[in-house]
Amino acid sequence: MQRTSTESGESETPAPSGDFLLPTYADRPLTLVRGEGTAVWDQEGRRYLDFTGGIAVNLLGHAHPALRSALQDQAGKLIHCSNLFYNEPANAFARALVERIGPGGIFFCNSGAEANEALFKFARKFGSATGRYEIITANNSFHGRTLAGISATGQAKVKEGFGPLLPGFTHVPFNDMEAIRDALTPKTVAVHIEGIQGEGGIIPADPGYLLELRQWTRENEVLLLWDGVQCGQFRTGHFQSYTTLLENVPGSDGFLPDGLAMAKSLGAGFPLGAAWIHEDYAHVLGPGSHGCTYGGNPLACAVGLAVLREVESGGWCEHARHVGKRLLDGLGPLKENGRCEDVRGAGVMIGITVREDLPAVRHRLMEAGLLVVPSANQTIRLLPPINVQDREVEEALQILKEHLSR
Ligand SMILES: *Cc1c(COP(=O)(O)O)cnc(C)c1O
Repeated sequence: MQRTSTESGESETPAPSGDFLLPTYADRPLTLVRGEGTAVWDQEGRRYLDFTGGIAVNLLGHAHPALRSALQDQAGKLIHCSNLFYNEPANAFARALVERIGPGGIFFCNSGAEANEALFKFARKFGSATGRYEIITANNSFHGRTLAGISATGQAKVKEGFGPLLPGFTHVPFNDMEAIRDALTPKTVAVHIEGIQGEGGIIPADPGYLLELRQWTRENEVLLLWDGVQCGQFRTGHFQSYTTLLENVPGSDGFLPDGLAMAKSLGAGFPLGAAWIHEDYAHVLGPGSHGCTYGGNPLACAVGLAVLREVESGGWCEHARHVGKRLLDGLGPLKENGRCEDVRGAGVMIGITVREDLPAVRHRLMEAGLLVVPSANQTIRLLPPINVQDREVEEALQILKEHLSR
């Protein structure tokens, strides 16, 4: 970065640009400088409604007081102490997660890819006694950018140029039980799916598929692993999306996967990931089998606890369901009159399949003051914070109505 001197001898630094970042991400139209709730401001002081939520991360919006005080308080006590020792926030947060999911244990990490990695290693370790290692995943899925993550992911574009990939992943069409049955081999150890495919364009699992899959995996001694990184952590109006997807579905009581990956909204902006493993298998990853230096650091876990408390004490789950309903109702007419292809999702995780060029739509919405996330299959995602205000939802709807396929 070039520094210039003024006559008074003070140095002036030019506004930071992205010139020194590797070009792994294309096309960044804005530099954001600050946020408050659902609003963000760019370098020119322009306000936008942030319906990207940092890609399903900023569950409580920007600059939330509960997060700020959790960070400040814990930073003054203990930021990091390694896994050579226990720490109180991690112990408490692990317990809180188990209470919300089901009996089992937690492995802490920093991201979604790492949470999935923990599940893949769990599955391999579990299968090692019987020589099984194959994991079935879905076409159109997304499971992270590590080598295991892209090997598991059912989208060709993330794999190009990175071969040879990790062996042992089989991909089948999503929501297709017959395809799962056909993919079973003596080496199959697990099925790994998202409850609602996020990067794939907000594609929910069918309730019937989930129930059949749960029964079939049990019968075949195959693990059912759930990637809740994007669809979980309250985004659909319940802590995990299987509760939302299976609501009022007969025979779904007590539905639980055997392993669950969490990240994104879990830390609501602070890097935090976790894998939950059912108590039946909680012994599989024993001492020395897996680790993560930052995993379970007190600062991250204090934030995670603050997020749980704020969402639950604030009644925000109910609000998320109300917002989801309002967005689906409000966008329904656009589908009916052909101005978009489809609208679907739940809570603060909504997908709109558009008819035009995706980058053009996204740009037009941005110009109108609304930030959204593109995904596969011609879909834009609305991933606002769970505490988005009603008037902000109306403002977003107004912009969408005005600017989708005019
Ligand atoms: C974002 C995402 C991941 C990867 O999470 P990172 O934190 O980027 O590693 C994995 N699975 C799903 C479903 C995701 O949406």
